[in-house]
Amino acid sequence: IIVANKLRKVFGNGVELLALDDVDLTILEGEFLSITGPSGSGKSTLLNMLGLLDKPSGGEIWLKGREVSQSSSLERSRLRNKELGFIFQYHHLLPEFTALENVMIPQLIAGEDKKAARHRSEELLREMGLVERLNHKPSELSGGQSQRVAVARALANRPSIVIGDEPTGNLDTKSSEMVYELLRKLNREIKQTFILVTHDMNMAQKTDRILRLVDGRIVSEMRRENGGFVECL
Ligand code: ATP
Ligand code: MG
Repeated sequence: IIVANKLRKVFGNGVELLALDDVDLTILEGEFLSITGPSGSGKSTLLNMLGLLDKPSGGEIWLKGREVSQSSSLERSRLRNKELGFIFQYHHLLPEFTALENVMIPQLIAGEDKKAARHRSEELLREMGLVERLNHKPSELSGGQSQRVAVARALANRPSIVIGDEPTGNLDTKSSEMVYELLRKLNREIKQTFILVTHDMNMAQKTDRILRLVDGRIVSEMRRENGGFVECL
């Protein structure tokens, strides 16, 4: 569903920093994949490229068979809205709207009717354990609760690819489990593709493939096979 060829990202002028160094990566439709690695290794940079939030300095990105690395910002934003959902560390809920409205709004923008959007939002928030917080505004929610609202919002339009940067980063074990269970369920039921950056090895070990990034390169790849992980790079 996404193929990256020799993906490269250089930051800075004067002193150059190679954040991604010729990364090759193929992500299949319906994969449930995690990316780990030390701080500064390029994980967020890679997600920003794969999510069409930033342009690479070199290399190609193919999304559903189209090369999109140098597409116009308008085209990339169209593709993001159509194909991608994002769960980031800083989730930026709209402060003047309730939890329910925050999840409904992207669906309304996408043209969903109000009743259906409300129904789906309630269902997602229920799965996130927030059934009693539907009408609270972000300022009335804890950090972990807001994060779970952001997860529901990212999933609201059923994007074919969901990109998460530490999606369970601020959450306690119980809420992390809840988020993980929902993502996994969607992955199984509607074959959504998940690409999740995480420091949490517990979480990574529940995915089907674990990539490890060091200094902008993929240094190892493990795949789930017969219940265990097999090194394949
Ligand atoms: P963390 O686990 O701390 O989130 P990360 O693996 O996500 O780390 P990145 O944020 O991708 O790391 O950063 C990779 C490298 O690129 C770092 O050295 C970082 O300082 C640099 N970098 C990232 N974004 C920029 C930017 N906008 N301008 C300049 N340098 C950047
Ligand atoms: Mg990061």
